[in-house]
Amino acid sequence: PARVRFAPSPTGQLHLGGLRTALYNYLLAKKTGGTFILRIEDTDQTRYVPGAVEKLTSSLSWAGIHPDEGPPPVNGPCAPYFQSQRTDLYRKYGNKLVEEGHAYRCFCTPERLQIIRDSRKKQGRITSYDKHCSRLPTEEIQSLLAKNTPYTIRHNVFTQGITSFHDHVHGKVQFQHHVLDDTILIKSDGFPTYHLANVVDDHQMGITHVLRGEEWISSTPKHILLYNAFGWTPPSFAHLPLLLNDNRSKLSKRSGDVHVEQYIEKGYLPEAVINFVALLGWHPRGDCNLHEGHDNAEGQEDILDLQQMIHQFNLDHLHHSGAVVDPMKLSWINKQHLLRRTQTTSGLQSLVDLLSPLVNNQYASRLNREYEYRLSPAYLKQVISTVKERIRILNDIPTLCSYYFIEPDYTTKEAIDLRKKLKPNALALVSNETKTLDTLKTLSFHEGSLRIKEWIHETAETHKVNGNHLMMALRYVMTGTKVGAGVAETMHTLGRTTCLSRLSCFID
Ligand code: GLU
Repeated sequence: PARVRFAPSPTGQLHLGGLRTALYNYLLAKKTGGTFILRIEDTDQTRYVPGAVEKLTSSLSWAGIHPDEGPPPVNGPCAPYFQSQRTDLYRKYGNKLVEEGHAYRCFCTPERLQIIRDSRKKQGRITSYDKHCSRLPTEEIQSLLAKNTPYTIRHNVFTQGITSFHDHVHGKVQFQHHVLDDTILIKSDGFPTYHLANVVDDHQMGITHVLRGEEWISSTPKHILLYNAFGWTPPSFAHLPLLLNDNRSKLSKRSGDVHVEQYIEKGYLPEAVINFVALLGWHPRGDCNLHEGHDNAEGQEDILDLQQMIHQFNLDHLHHSGAVVDPMKLSWINKQHLLRRTQTTSGLQSLVDLLSPLVNNQYASRLNREYEYRLSPAYLKQVISTVKERIRILNDIPTLCSYYFIEPDYTTKEAIDLRKKLKPNALALVSNETKTLDTLKTLSFHEGSLRIKEWIHETAETHKVNGNHLMMALRYVMTGTKVGAGVAETMHTLGRTTCLSRLSCFID
């Protein structure tokens, strides 16, 4: 069984890449009957953002990723899971390294360090510290300590040789020691740096596999040297490929939303977001040629729920090249999961619950009393059933199908263009032939829309006009948009009163 951890620094919101790291760790834990640990790496007090831990844990739990061990209320045998509460431990191990000669106290002032850094840079040196304090005589160290001179603890890295390790994604990775700086392990305020705290905790918490973003790969040789210095066996490593924009630059906001919270707000489904990030660097088949799958039939094998992912997850199937984040792919995946939910009563109800705040936010203050029913669960359920084949995310309902809530806007470019295309008599015809709509109220959804279809055909036949022209005119009146669900279904959902009142505006 694997013991794995997700070890975020609470510096803001959960990023898509962070969610992927958490997910892969979680999948590995569940696949092997192991343990998934959440550890908060909050020793850098200057980067601390209040509320970030809460946001992080709530985004994870939204996604269905629940830690087996972690900060309260979860807890566990290795508590505390906040690094800021474990600083004595790091100091103890920092001092141990000094005693054993693997690290040394550095008394250099910030001014001296700056000068050294600049001059070494000019000389084209890769490392920025000159190991000055590693050569201090014991008496000098004692006298500096006696004077309470502030110091950091630095890792005494070999200047020659190579450290190599096996990475599940990248295979054999090697680093020459002369490129490694004598990293600070304990800062002058007594707090550890990421490197020391990370290694001490991974060891103390019995971590077997470290799965983390590729941006950490250059830290790994430093960590391996620390494991060796302590005489500990390092965990095995997998550095996950970078997430990229569509032009293959490192993922940034230009590709759209990069924070999980933004997806939550827009009404994306957690199972869809998880499914999407799972495929950013892994595929059950092992290859990385994902289906373009932007229509329904294709790519169904990419649609996975958490249980299926757990079942199929395998470290050997991780990709090593960067993963392009394609928002179109996400919306397609979301649509597939949305359709899955509409297939069961409880699934449909859950969509109503998610849609309700979205439409309330947008329309509650704009609806008269008589139209408040449009925010009711029964009405929303009907709307979802009508448009489910047409939408990709729930937020499409309030944004693209506003006509279910408020009057159509006939002044948009789309509406004006549509109106120009209508046959002159079609509009007048449908508005004057509305008697049949009176029967709507008493009919079920299916019968109601069938009856409207019949009405359209009858009207077209009686007046010898093209049924499609009538349909287009009706769509215009009812929605002011060119595309949408079937006209009859839309009208049935809107209901008799709304249809009649919209038509009445166009009566000659
Ligand atoms: N605290 C680091 C981060 O913010 C953890 C990196 C690691 O997993 O070792 O991502």
